[in-house]
Amino acid sequence: MDNYDAIVIGAGYGGASLAALLAHGGLRVALLEKTRMAGGKTQTTERLGYRFEMFGAVGIPALNSRFHELVELLGVADEVPFIVPEGNAASIRYKSQGGDWRTLYSPLVQTGSEEEIENLRRVFDASDDDLGAMAAMYEAMFGLDEDALDALDEVGMLDWLAQFYLSEPLTAQICMNLITLFVVPVNRLAASEAIRVMREQAVSGAGRYHIGGFGRVAEACADYVVEKGGLYLNKTRVQRILVEEGRAVGVETDNGQIRATAVISNAGIQPTVLKLAGEENFSAQYIEYIRSLEPSWSIAGFRYILDKRIFDAGLIPIFSNQSWLDDERFARMQSGDWPDVPLIAIDVPTEFDASLSPNPDHQLANCQVFISADPKSNMEAEAIRRAEAVIDELWPDLKDHIIRKEPYGARQISGMSRDSVLPGCGGEAVGLAQVVGQVGKSKPNPRTPLAGLYIVGCDAGGRGAGTHQAVDSGFNVAALVLEDLAGSGS
Ligand SMILES: Cc1cc2nc3c(=O)[nH]c(=O)nc-3n(C[C@H](O)[C@H](O)[C@H](O)COP(=O)(O)OP(=O)(O)OC[C@H]3O[C@@H](n4cnc5c(N)ncnc54)[C@H](O)[C@@H]3O)c2cc1C
Repeated sequence: MDNYDAIVIGAGYGGASLAALLAHGGLRVALLEKTRMAGGKTQTTERLGYRFEMFGAVGIPALNSRFHELVELLGVADEVPFIVPEGNAASIRYKSQGGDWRTLYSPLVQTGSEEEIENLRRVFDASDDDLGAMAAMYEAMFGLDEDALDALDEVGMLDWLAQFYLSEPLTAQICMNLITLFVVPVNRLAASEAIRVMREQAVSGAGRYHIGGFGRVAEACADYVVEKGGLYLNKTRVQRILVEEGRAVGVETDNGQIRATAVISNAGIQPTVLKLAGEENFSAQYIEYIRSLEPSWSIAGFRYILDKRIFDAGLIPIFSNQSWLDDERFARMQSGDWPDVPLIAIDVPTEFDASLSPNPDHQLANCQVFISADPKSNMEAEAIRRAEAVIDELWPDLKDHIIRKEPYGARQISGMSRDSVLPGCGGEAVGLAQVVGQVGKSKPNPRTPLAGLYIVGCDAGGRGAGTHQAVDSGFNVAALVLEDLAGSGS
């Protein structure tokens, strides 16, 4: 049986970044991943010779991100170049109240130019007063200091927005953006999280891609662990966490046991506590707390390989005033009452990096629509059917150019990330919902009550949107583990 300083369960962006940072800090690390690739929910795989994104594909913020810090610190920036396309890399499709479709081409790093303002007038019928209200909102956002922002951990974003009396179309645009970023009801989305990320988007841009595939940075982190004398095993599922005398001391995999001073799990806080470590190792109060945590929603959709360039931009959100989701609208969708346009987000990785496809004329695209995190929910098929109808209306010739089409939803996401250990959970697109009561001081502590066991990734230790939150957690939890192990003399 081999001994390590730290075992990391899962090579999603939280686990992979943390493992590399611990190796960088001088620890001997074992990184264990149950799937074939590092990257978790944003892993890149191969299909028919294409580099193929399984799920999400863009990073926010585009510039000055935790990802930039990570690759610089590890010295792998040249290995995994980042790209933020210039020009109009986003094209918004908005269905107006009158029923006509309007298109807004936009750069990923906005400048506030006259042209951008004119576009808001044309697409969202924005008057001078509407634009003034939006300017007041951004001014208020940038006027908040850290303490004022922290206080907004307890305020829902829709309530915070209400003070600006934004027009319906501009509200729809802002809420659409927030839902694609956080995948939670916008009424309970913590205003602190929303504002931080909107500020980052405004200053540092709304979309970064990694050349060779979004998962490339996680792959580089796993390689880094090995270069530093550690172990990386893919296709290795951790079955349980070994606990001796009230302390996590290692893990059991399909191929035997590995021991370490610290065990850090990227497998989700609920699966880690309730299944891998076991309820018997925690107080009844902690178990009750863990059971009460709410997941983010999930995403269903389909991945395409197309034999023609159908989509004209890298990021294409599609929505109407009815598309954004709060608790009430989501509950209506669950009961079968869908909006005229379900909120759809299309990522087109080949628009960021043409080298993903062996044929320069072909296009890879991922169409996403928002559903429950419950792997057993029946929303998936209906969401996909409705999204397809909208896409068919907008791009009628798409269906004649499909080389491959793969539908997916909460069940597959759960299979590639966290186990479903509680009713309604498992397929979450992000992790714990970043809603009031679950962020900032109310977010779970990455140090669990079981000595030697930590949580990393979107469930603890970070802030921000999606993978950025996961890597933020990687940095913050690495600092905790290094501090604890230095203190214990390991
Ligand atoms: C369809 C979709 C689109 C998205 N779009 C974007 C986007 O455009 N931009 C963005 O930033 N974010 C996006 N996200 C969100 C983003 O993917 C997640 O927030 C982030 O990847 C979560 O990282 P994580 O480290 O917390 O966990 P995960 O990515 O879930 O990683 C957990 C890892 O642990 C492994 N694991 C679990 N259990 C075990 C076990 N027992 N043994 C061994 N290994 C185990 C899993 O296989 C996985 O690799 C999207 C998500 C989805 C589903």
